[in-house]
Amino acid sequence: MLSPADSPAPEWLVVPDDVNDLATAVWPASAARDGDGVLTLAGIPATSLAQTYGTPLLVIDEDQVRDRARAFRSAFDRAAGENGTTAQVYYAGKAFLCTSVARWVVDEGLCIDVCTGGELEVALAAGVAPASLGFHGNNKSVAELERAVEVGIGTIIVDSAIEIERLAAIVARTDSVQRVLVRVISGVHAETHEFLATAHEDQKFGFPLAEAEEAVARIREIDGLDFAGLHCHIGSQIFGVAGFRESASRVLELHASLLEGGPVPSLNLGGGFGIAYTRVDDPTPIETLAAEIVSAVAEGCAARGIPMPALSFEPGRAIVGAAGVTLYEVGTTKDVELGSGMVRRYLSVDGGMSDNARPALYGAQFSARLASRSGIGAPQLSRVVGKHCESGDIVVEHEYLPDDVAPGDLLAVPSTGAYCASLASNYNHVPRPPIVAVRDGRSTVIVRGESIADILSRDAGIPSADAERL
Ligand SMILES: *Cc1c(COP(=O)(O)O)cnc(C)c1O
Repeated sequence: MLSPADSPAPEWLVVPDDVNDLATAVWPASAARDGDGVLTLAGIPATSLAQTYGTPLLVIDEDQVRDRARAFRSAFDRAAGENGTTAQVYYAGKAFLCTSVARWVVDEGLCIDVCTGGELEVALAAGVAPASLGFHGNNKSVAELERAVEVGIGTIIVDSAIEIERLAAIVARTDSVQRVLVRVISGVHAETHEFLATAHEDQKFGFPLAEAEEAVARIREIDGLDFAGLHCHIGSQIFGVAGFRESASRVLELHASLLEGGPVPSLNLGGGFGIAYTRVDDPTPIETLAAEIVSAVAEGCAARGIPMPALSFEPGRAIVGAAGVTLYEVGTTKDVELGSGMVRRYLSVDGGMSDNARPALYGAQFSARLASRSGIGAPQLSRVVGKHCESGDIVVEHEYLPDDVAPGDLLAVPSTGAYCASLASNYNHVPRPPIVAVRDGRSTVIVRGESIADILSRDAGIPSADAERL
């Protein structure tokens, strides 16, 4: 008998009663199975999507993105209103930005955060009003800052003393006034169920609390800079409220002391709201998080006798994560004997770490289901792997899939809307997949897939005659 510690399956992985079920938290609300057992997304069979666009394919459920954007906005509007202030929600574009997604979230009343010149140009190309953009980053170049100031970006979140001087020169040269926040590190780092609170943080972003006062004093001396408050982002994939609470309390201490030198109208508490990647993940509903975080700030302000600032938040993953489903075709299968009669089945698919780097990069867990039909076999412990030349090229490390999954079947991996397309690469010269939006039974390409010709087009060593033949 194997003890749980020896088991090849992790303790959290439960054998499903129904190996074809779609656990609600990890799938877009529109995911279902049709009468033939085929997975459908917004009413479209996965088999038709694969036939039309090929695999791998990233499918984004537009209504899911819009619903999440609206849910965040209304949860923070309500919580702020009940505490005598206002709240703005910035979609953190780094989770997944293209012009369509930018338009959807702006349409639902969100602003957008960008953190490079490239993300800024995508948001501008989408027609987003520059005033509703925030600009992050620990190493914004002079050219990036000039472009941001020139287009009239709403807020620049300054990250270093060097950046303050760069901005001072730009606003002087262009005779403009730029709203800025100062990014601080509170010493609180949160992830899922834990948070770590230290006095010093060994990381590249922002000003330590002890140095921020001097930075703000310098900003207040510069005519073209309008100091609007502090910014703090404590981590990612956070399920609870305790880390936000501790961090807000530390930042409010500084906020209160800055009020002695002038106005501090706002406070931005960043993003990091977690989502479910597997059926055992249990993120706190956003309505609860919003109410608890905002009331923690209100209590902190009341205790210090200071007014409630206008609040901002920056969810990325929680807006787009659950809207994405990646479809792959199974190419080969392989059984590995693990001893004591246990077998792990490797299912190799036609993508991998080039379209989803999260497992290789962070050991992230995902789940998977057979999509082209319902399986008839018993649950088989399986590992979905990619086609790259790395043994760490894993898409889903641990999952039970029907034991009749075979080459030619389609697998669907849910919760791939955030940090998959945005982290995609051409590793092994694998073209990046197309991205298709689905809504009300219709599908639209929102990001074209790459071709081998795209990849070869960057290789300057190919004689042009050969390049034309390709
Ligand atoms: C990454 C990031 C976010 C978004 O994080 P999520 O985990 O996707 O919500 C928000 N703000 C800043 C400053 C970030 O770096």
